[in-house]
Amino acid sequence: MTKRVNIIGGGIAGCALAYMIKQEGGEPVIYEAASSLYGKGQEPEHDCSTYNPRYSAQWDENAQYFSMGYFEALRLFEEFGGDGFNWNQCGTLQLIANERKARRYPKTVASWGAHGWSEEDMRFVSAKEASDIAGLDVETDCMYLGRAGVISPWRLCSKLINGVEVKLNQWVEDVSALEGDATVLACGTKVTSFKEAAHLPISGVRGQVTFIRETDVSSKVKTTINYGGHISPALDGVHYIGATFQPWLKHTDILPEDDVHNIRNMCERFPALADKYELVCSRAGVRTAAKDHFPIIGQLSDRVYISTAHGSHGVISALSSAMILAKSIVRNEDVISKDVLKIMSPERF
Ligand SMILES: Cc1cc2nc3c(=O)[nH]c(=O)nc-3n(C[C@H](O)[C@H](O)[C@H](O)COP(=O)(O)OP(=O)(O)OC[C@H]3O[C@@H](n4cnc5c(N)ncnc54)[C@H](O)[C@@H]3O)c2cc1C
Repeated sequence: MTKRVNIIGGGIAGCALAYMIKQEGGEPVIYEAASSLYGKGQEPEHDCSTYNPRYSAQWDENAQYFSMGYFEALRLFEEFGGDGFNWNQCGTLQLIANERKARRYPKTVASWGAHGWSEEDMRFVSAKEASDIAGLDVETDCMYLGRAGVISPWRLCSKLINGVEVKLNQWVEDVSALEGDATVLACGTKVTSFKEAAHLPISGVRGQVTFIRETDVSSKVKTTINYGGHISPALDGVHYIGATFQPWLKHTDILPEDDVHNIRNMCERFPALADKYELVCSRAGVRTAAKDHFPIIGQLSDRVYISTAHGSHGVISALSSAMILAKSIVRNEDVISKDVLKIMSPERF
């Protein structure tokens, strides 16, 4: 019998889960409180997210989890053909700008390389080679992810929910009011308003990203560059740069000083980009984080599941978590090792 799965939240986690449940033969229904998916109302004129894994030095549960989602993202983006969600597989340079990273990244490249990450996926590059890749002077050696890049998450969500029943303007308060075989709380920080998840140590980390007009200097940028903040190649003459981290702020109002910070941080941390920039627009939001910084994925109680705390790597984490939950709910099977499931499980709290 087809399993009907209610998904509370139409952000990237909820949309990716709906897609995977459908792939497994289930029947997903999304309940979204806002008037559009991704909780943003109208489609934003400028919308961009980087997609890359969270790195760990060893091939541990974190690495397994993010690798699964990363390779699934690449497969899916190919399948979707890139059209319609601004996919730019421009690569990502990670500057090795301090001693800690200089010690850690060789271990990451070696241990991930032993588990299916080819040179195309992740390798070291000298400052000289990094400069050729970036299109402008890079002063330090880098780790380079040749197949990483950027997408529009708003548009990706629209693609993922093709053929899925979506109920907008639906604020759900109690899962017992919903009919179906299972319900998944995929509603970011708001999961704790449900009694099943009220005990979880979750917090919000406000952040703001900034969109700037390209200049003669910045137009040379050919790849995403992470320098503590990040910049991506211009799309329609506009770069996506970010981001601030303010766990102490509870609102998502746009702060002009955050745009100043993002632009100044870029020019100071990456001097080759120093220039005068025109602000195009800004976007602020809240990242959901668990106390131990791992996502929270798994079963909470009879027929109630959770997918949240995707932190700063929501695009990849959403896909990994969706694969895990869809397989578990629809087929009662595991898609990844029990060790990973244990680390991510809500039972750890
Ligand atoms: C400034 C900033 C920059 C970022 N940049 C990147 C990046 O470049 N790359 C990357 O991978 N990640 C990035 N992230 C992180 C990423 O945005 C998040 O991890 C991701 O959006 C989390 O998705 P989610 O679906 O779990 O939650 P959310 O996006 O919070 O979605 C939850 C949804 O649930 C809905 N909802 C809430 N309560 C209810 C309810 N009771 N009933 C019905 N609906 C409800 C909300 O309206 C919302 O639409 C960034 C985050 C911020 C803040």
